[in-house]
Amino acid sequence: MSTEKTTPPTPASETAAPADTLGRPLRDLRISVTDRCNFRCPYCMPKEVFGRKYKFLPRSELLTFEEITRLAGIFSALGVRKLRLTGGEPTIRRGLPKLVRMLSAVDGIEDLAMTTNASRLTAMAPELRQAGLRRVTVSLDSLDDARFREMSGAEFPVDLVLEGIEAARRAGLLPVKINVVVKRGVNEDDALAIARRFRGPDYIVRFIEYMDVGTTNGWRTDDVVPAAEIIDTIGRELPLEAIDPNYRGEVARRWRYADGKGEVGFIASVTEPFCGDCTRARLSADGQLYTCLFAVKGHDLRQLLRDGASDEEIEAFLRGLWSRRTDRYSEQRTEKTATRRHKVEMSYIGG
Ligand code: SAM
Ligand code: SF4
Ligand code: SF4
Repeated sequence: MSTEKTTPPTPASETAAPADTLGRPLRDLRISVTDRCNFRCPYCMPKEVFGRKYKFLPRSELLTFEEITRLAGIFSALGVRKLRLTGGEPTIRRGLPKLVRMLSAVDGIEDLAMTTNASRLTAMAPELRQAGLRRVTVSLDSLDDARFREMSGAEFPVDLVLEGIEAARRAGLLPVKINVVVKRGVNEDDALAIARRFRGPDYIVRFIEYMDVGTTNGWRTDDVVPAAEIIDTIGRELPLEAIDPNYRGEVARRWRYADGKGEVGFIASVTEPFCGDCTRARLSADGQLYTCLFAVKGHDLRQLLRDGASDEEIEAFLRGLWSRRTDRYSEQRTEKTATRRHKVEMSYIGG
């Protein structure tokens, strides 16, 4: 009889991709690479708060590219298939193409995208594409120069962003998604012009309801323009038909132009919350993990990394964290939670 020992099989619950308490798997990871930005959009980084004296994270507190890539590999083992780089403004993180190259080599990752204000895209798009970036989402709230400056707090003309979008298109970062935050009394009149300009196979415009992220933007319910209203405005001029989501967890409700010339999306996180399908986790630039955009508290992965935890230990920690997840903030939002809860800022956690 053999005396050789056999290793007992690992229970399925310790290897399978985890689901949270509402049955939602972990599929997407948004990685913020910096909390800094060269814009001051009032709904995200109002300049009265994020002024000269604002203390951004020091470099030593940021996760290194090696740390980010190692975590991406562990998340991939837990079921993550999509990575999105964000911030702050991701293109101002020094050496970004190198990080893209490292992340594009992570096993199991099927999609690598970035959300950007496009101010640096004209120069960077080809290099990012070559490094392995698949797609970009560009934030642009108005085509009118004065209104663009009002909504971005930027010192640049809107043409710089339009050139960046064109550079992304030429580089093959397709389709280029255009995110438009709509704020009552500020830019709802721009929706149709933006929809018209970016029709066709290379672009998908997504209108986003203004959200109560963070605590500094002075959000009020009255500032929100319901997605249904924008659908109506656009649909009157350019008839629309609703279409099915591409996959579970897609946050934008999709519509296509009845004449076949492209599609448009609506992210109605205030009027039609989609928590039931939320498969996202968010990693801040200093390595805190958030299981909801409206979370009050993160979980310190940087400490684990720098204390020498093994991949298996970090994976077990994340598995436990995700399987206890109960977040469904947008479905439970009240005026009180929206204005009084001490939520993290969007520029820190990454949108
Ligand atoms: N700087 C990059 C950019 O603007 O694309 C990436 C980071 S930004 C925080 C990510 C996305 O969040 C942008 O599309 C932005 O418009 C959106 N966003 C920021 N604050 C928001 C708010 N209060 N409500 C809705 N969307 C918001
Ligand atoms: Fe910067 Fe993006 Fe926030 Fe605007 S939305 S301030 S571009 S991080
Ligand atoms: Fe996901 Fe939180 Fe947004 Fe709901 S509120 S969709 S749980 S990030």
